[in-house]
Amino acid sequence: MKTYKIDEYEFNEIIDAATINSRVLEMADQINKDYAGKKPLFLITLTGGMFFGVELLKHINLDCKCFVISAKSYGKNMVSSGNVDINIYDINVKDEDIIIVEDIVDTGLTVTKLIKNISAQNPASIRIATFINKPDCNNYKVNLDYVGFNLDDSFLVGYGLDYKEYGRNLNGIYSL
Ligand code: 5GP
Repeated sequence: MKTYKIDEYEFNEIIDAATINSRVLEMADQINKDYAGKKPLFLITLTGGMFFGVELLKHINLDCKCFVISAKSYGKNMVSSGNVDINIYDINVKDEDIIIVEDIVDTGLTVTKLIKNISAQNPASIRIATFINKPDCNNYKVNLDYVGFNLDDSFLVGYGLDYKEYGRNLNGIYSL
């Protein structure tokens, strides 16, 4: 089993790169079908969502726009701070079919706040594509449209997810 150490913590690989790549392709296929004839606008959340977002977008064959937004909640710890700093910069989302691309949905707080913030600007529609969902933690009962992997509640790094900014570059998912 592949392992990765950050400080005193040893993480074990639970999903390898090949499995991730084929799942991302399946998700892109589904979005291509669902949005046929439309021109969605993808909003990729920094920093973690970037890794999944780029791979996903490579397989989208629709005319589409793509921007990054920022939603920060965890800080340097393994538990959510409960506060979410959102910045959607000056992106015009009015009348657009929005797909928010997230790395992970844990409690659902971040996505809930993002939806509220973006909805205020009257987009045509909003859907969520998340690489990972932790269904046991989803206190906010957010409806997720595209989910890469449903995983148990453990702290994860890899494929964009970090601990103290390390581990994002791993091409698999690693769990504590
Ligand atoms: P939520 O607002 O849904 O509780 O948390 C979402 C954010 O928490 C994610 O965007 C991510 O930054 C962070 N997060 C939640 N679970 C994990 C995890 O297992 N590993 C890492 N590295 N970040 C996580």
